[in-house]
Amino acid sequence: MSTKNYLFKLIIVGSAAVGKTSLLERYVNNRFLEDYKLTIGVNFMSKILEESDFKARLVIWDIGGQKRFEVMRTEFYKGASGAVLVFDLTRMETYTAIEAWLNEVRQFAGEIPFILIGNKADLIETIGRVIDKQYAEEFAQRENGIYIETSAKTGTNVEDAFTAFTRLIIKS
Ligand code: GDP
Ligand code: MG
Repeated sequence: MSTKNYLFKLIIVGSAAVGKTSLLERYVNNRFLEDYKLTIGVNFMSKILEESDFKARLVIWDIGGQKRFEVMRTEFYKGASGAVLVFDLTRMETYTAIEAWLNEVRQFAGEIPFILIGNKADLIETIGRVIDKQYAEEFAQRENGIYIETSAKTGTNVEDAFTAFTRLIIKS
């Protein structure tokens, strides 16, 4: 049996400081940086995901907060196979913003698969849960996406999120 090979462009979006860059750092380089460094322009990270039944090269585009350059935004969304939507489990406004992010993705990239990620799960213990898990799950399902809670800091669920999402893209 021959394994299938894929090449996917993914984009990662969400409000400032939800942990987009940290999730990629954890997933691609398996490390975590405490200090907050604003992402300027667009970063790319690439990872080869090898499973028993497929091999996929993921090229993940990470954009900073500045939306001044329309050209950059168009390039960012162009040809994306999937979108990673991230919010911070401890900040309600970042969850509320998800609907607008999904609309923007669909406007510029069309009806592509998405994964909704509630990040900073490690903080729930101390800060408390702000966004109901079932609520976020139902939203994702209603919009044909999947939902997962992660911590870029501890690494919890980060790999599983990208593996599950890649499988979703392959079968859609
Ligand atoms: P971005 O603006 O969405 O790219 O967010 P960053 O990746 O730059 O992260 C913003 C801040 O949140 C940084 O100080 C990170 O160290 C921190 N951070 C990111 N992910 C986590 C997480 O899972 N847990 C905790 N406790 N902090 C996180
Ligand atoms: Mg960033």
